[in-house]
Amino acid sequence: MSKKNYGFETKLISQDCYIDSKTGAVNPPVYYSSTFQQGQFDSFGPFDYTRSGNPTRKVLEETIAELEGGVQGFAFASGMAAISSAFMLLSSGDHVIISEDVYGGTFRMVTKVLTKFQIQHTFVDMTDLDAVAGAFRPNTKVVYVETPSNPLLHITDIRGVVKLAKAHNCLVYIDNTFMTPLHQRPLELGADIVLHSATKFLAGHSDVVAGLAVVKDEKLADQLYFIQNSFGAVLGIPDCWALHRGMKTLSVRMKQSSESAQVIAEFLQNHPLVEEVFYPGLATHAGHEIHLGQATSAGAVLSFRLPNKDIAKAFVENLEIPAFAVSLGAVESILSYPATMSHAAMRQKEREKRGITDGLLRLSVGLENCEDLVADLAQALEIAERAVGAGTVAARTVGRFI
Ligand SMILES: *Cc1c(COP(=O)(O)O)cnc(C)c1O
Repeated sequence: MSKKNYGFETKLISQDCYIDSKTGAVNPPVYYSSTFQQGQFDSFGPFDYTRSGNPTRKVLEETIAELEGGVQGFAFASGMAAISSAFMLLSSGDHVIISEDVYGGTFRMVTKVLTKFQIQHTFVDMTDLDAVAGAFRPNTKVVYVETPSNPLLHITDIRGVVKLAKAHNCLVYIDNTFMTPLHQRPLELGADIVLHSATKFLAGHSDVVAGLAVVKDEKLADQLYFIQNSFGAVLGIPDCWALHRGMKTLSVRMKQSSESAQVIAEFLQNHPLVEEVFYPGLATHAGHEIHLGQATSAGAVLSFRLPNKDIAKAFVENLEIPAFAVSLGAVESILSYPATMSHAAMRQKEREKRGITDGLLRLSVGLENCEDLVADLAQALEIAERAVGAGTVAARTVGRFI
């Protein structure tokens, strides 16, 4: 039975395509098998070797394809494996236009790995469509977009970029990690490939590292399948199962976390110690209107700027609830410090040019009680503020730099 007419939540849960016909199990069987016996000498079954395909992986790949509205899904060993494999559709001499505040690992891949294969790139401020228009070269093949971007939540007008890219015969890749298909479906807006770090909201429990890709048409599907099978960065079977399970609760998790994120963003915006809050759900956010025109929620990730590193340190050291860690999109709130975590691969000058200063913190809002989270942020900010007032922060700064 096709799941096409169902709502998103039903598609997440509905198992009718997958019920194991032998046992009636409501969950997909985990096929721990690297190889598959072929019944006939000269006609092979649907699976032969797990790098090329596995029934458990297939369930996951079909689910994400359905959710994103694409023709085929692909599961990879990490978000970076999915992104890197998508870049392997390019050839030496090609050129990529890419969001300047892209995820640090993608930045590293493009600047340190693709360049070894003579694949060129230009970073642009994707919020400025004129800048995008001016970056095309005769050899440009892909426009790579992250929206909202990481960590400053810049918003790219997906339809606008697609229009420019199509006029130049280029593909559009979109990293949809922050929104997930619940809130944003780039293929419906004209993109060609959607990429995910499924490690984040899709898996949702900080227990799996995984990547997913979905493509819009059959030709690209064949090409990406060829890369997936040739390069071989496929997702392991138990992780396919765990990710598929995590995705069932995507909708309730995302909705609750996004609701709390809005409350927290407003609280931070009104706090005197906070210089700036970056969250597309705030009417003051430069991309607010564009975001609402292409997504159904502002999501669960926000960033904010404290005056300097020492205040950020005092704040972090006094927080009780959020994990201080890299990553995002989990049941627990995760606070991270982009300068030395997600964007450590970027040199300080590059970072600061992109607004990733030493006072910037990123918060991925989890499923804790929202009032508890606000109270925790409030008390840590108060201590950080007092530390500044008492001069202890300033004294430490002097001590460190002399
Ligand atoms: C984490 C992340 C990635 C990389 O994914 P991994 O699963 O860590 O390899 C890519 N893009 C974004 C936006 C991310 O947050």
